[in-house]
Amino acid sequence: MRRTTTWSIALVTSLAISGATGATVASAATTIAPTAAAAPSATGATTHDPTTARLLATIEANRPADWEARQAAALDRFGVERSAAQEVVERVIDPTQHQCAPTRLNAYVGGVLAKVDPEVFAALAGVGALDYATYDAILFGAQGAPGYALPKAYANELSQSFRAAQRFWDTDGSDIQLMAMHGDVMTDPARVSQVLQVAFGVPRSPADAIAGAVVELVATDPGLEGGQSPIFTLNAFAFTAAGETDPVLRRIPDKLVFGDGMLAALQAIGVGDVGPRAVLGHEYAHHVQYDAGLTGSPLTGAEATRRTELMADAFGTYFVTHKRGLALNAARVLEAEQSFFQVGDCNFDKPGHHGTPNQRLAASTWGWSVAKAAQKQGHVLPSLTLDAQFEAKLPELVAPDA
Ligand SMILES: [Zn+2]
Repeated sequence: MRRTTTWSIALVTSLAISGATGATVASAATTIAPTAAAAPSATGATTHDPTTARLLATIEANRPADWEARQAAALDRFGVERSAAQEVVERVIDPTQHQCAPTRLNAYVGGVLAKVDPEVFAALAGVGALDYATYDAILFGAQGAPGYALPKAYANELSQSFRAAQRFWDTDGSDIQLMAMHGDVMTDPARVSQVLQVAFGVPRSPADAIAGAVVELVATDPGLEGGQSPIFTLNAFAFTAAGETDPVLRRIPDKLVFGDGMLAALQAIGVGDVGPRAVLGHEYAHHVQYDAGLTGSPLTGAEATRRTELMADAFGTYFVTHKRGLALNAARVLEAEQSFFQVGDCNFDKPGHHGTPNQRLAASTWGWSVAKAAQKQGHVLPSLTLDAQFEAKLPELVAPDA
């Protein structure tokens, strides 16, 4: 089963990474920031200052030749979907490959990327830098550790909502750790090197060389805001290693991780009020699925993913709107969810497909309707009962866009 279930604000596609080569990103990135473009050149002759040119060359020289295979293997091993950042980034830099209409999130990410030197960005993306914070949080993050503390502005809201979810659901969520991931990993060569070694299997020496160059590039390109650019942490996810045999992964506790970039993006698209709690409800619902054994079904591929994602939308909305859950205003929650579902998942045939905006809104609306009916009787449905109702409803939820 998938071990790391990301919130997909934009949608996150398959585990295949073929479209994300540095070359693809480089050429396309040029189109979004033409003024800053420096044509990639095989001879190394560019408009870059000597320091940037040296750092780019260092990354290129130390990047394993089989990088794409390593990246795909890491995504598969950790069960990580491609980052939402990577997905939106690709949509922004090459809109022709996607059917989604431009959205506020595209505009937001486009604005963030326009500040970054395209070649620097391509080099970073080409060594997996958009996912370092995610792997770092999975491998080394711990609830209560200072480096993974929730940002002050959200700490109370998120931790109270998390505890409410632990009480609300009948599954045992006492072992789940709630934490944040921050861009400061991008300022620490030792942490970056560790991720390269552990997640991507890069030998120590090239890992140290790449890490040093990555950190220096992040420090010198003003557009990357010293690692605080949202592109490094544009993600939120639920992780479990239940049933895992991999010696590195099996010791890792269950986690629910919020990236600073995700919180910033929710704010930027106008859903900063209820968005973070709706995302928490969705991600916690994935933990309910893990713990109640609801991840499996006779479905396969895109349909299987769509089922678990629509269930997480339904369960999450059930929790956040239920009087004994977060009791959030249902109209506002559905309105906010509609605006981030519309951000778009247009890769309907990919394994990571989360459902169309219509299907996701239908699932959320259904979750709310069940909460409304159940709370009249003053109780919370057992997760298996709610699931049985969901499975019966699923064909109807997907029908509009089936
Ligand atoms: Zn999900």
